[in-house]
Amino acid sequence: MVASFLNFKITLIVDKKSDSAISKRDFIKGEKFMFNKRKILLYLGIAVLAFIVSGMSDIVAAEKKRVMVIDAGHGGKDRGVQLNDKIAEKDITLAIALFIQQELAKEKNIDVVLTRNSDKQIDLEDRRKMIEKIKPDFLISLHVNAGFGKNASGFEIYYPALPDMISGEKNDAKNEKSKLQNKLQNDSLKMAKILQDALNALFPRKGRGLRKADLPLTEGLNVSALSLEMSFATNAEEQKKLLSAKTQEDIAKALAKGIKHFFR
Ligand SMILES: [Zn+2]
Repeated sequence: MVASFLNFKITLIVDKKSDSAISKRDFIKGEKFMFNKRKILLYLGIAVLAFIVSGMSDIVAAEKKRVMVIDAGHGGKDRGVQLNDKIAEKDITLAIALFIQQELAKEKNIDVVLTRNSDKQIDLEDRRKMIEKIKPDFLISLHVNAGFGKNASGFEIYYPALPDMISGEKNDAKNEKSKLQNKLQNDSLKMAKILQDALNALFPRKGRGLRKADLPLTEGLNVSALSLEMSFATNAEEQKKLLSAKTQEDIAKALAKGIKHFFR
């Protein structure tokens, strides 16, 4: 488009030089023609400029747009940990995932995609396929903890362990793979630290530390990720907190704040 615009400009300059050889009538006609040509040129110029500017803003937008997948753990028949007669882990994770999406809706550079936005059962393999298709910049899987006795409390953040390199691969391929794995793990650790700080502000001295673990959800996928155990359903005080909409919203706000910080 830019090249044809330049050709047109050259033709017009040549036309202008041949003006003296034509009659007055033709000259007037020619001038009218020239005027029209100038007008066309002007419109073309505007069109080219608009094309370039819109292309540039698309590039800028594409560079800045980040995709965040929030995985609300469990769903449907897979209830997870039961908090009381009616409410289970699957309800808490969904409520918080929806709050996070709502909280980040106003962020132009972050797109939040949920693995589920209703009470439906999605098995691990389908979630993995979904993530593989979306290729998010980051994935957070939400869960509620249980066990370790009634006194166990606080939140835990798990980030994926570096997978073993496949033996028999050429060194270059190995290097590329380990570079990518390092980047994914560094990003995961960076996000884990940011979310740890964000949650510490909400639940002081409740962090149980960052833990490296195999995350079944991201096994075999090239994605920066972490899994968050938000509190203990088996701890009376935390169970009560988790059941309150206020705490669910506070957790979501803290996580959204951390996510914004990470992508800044
Ligand atoms: Zn769970």
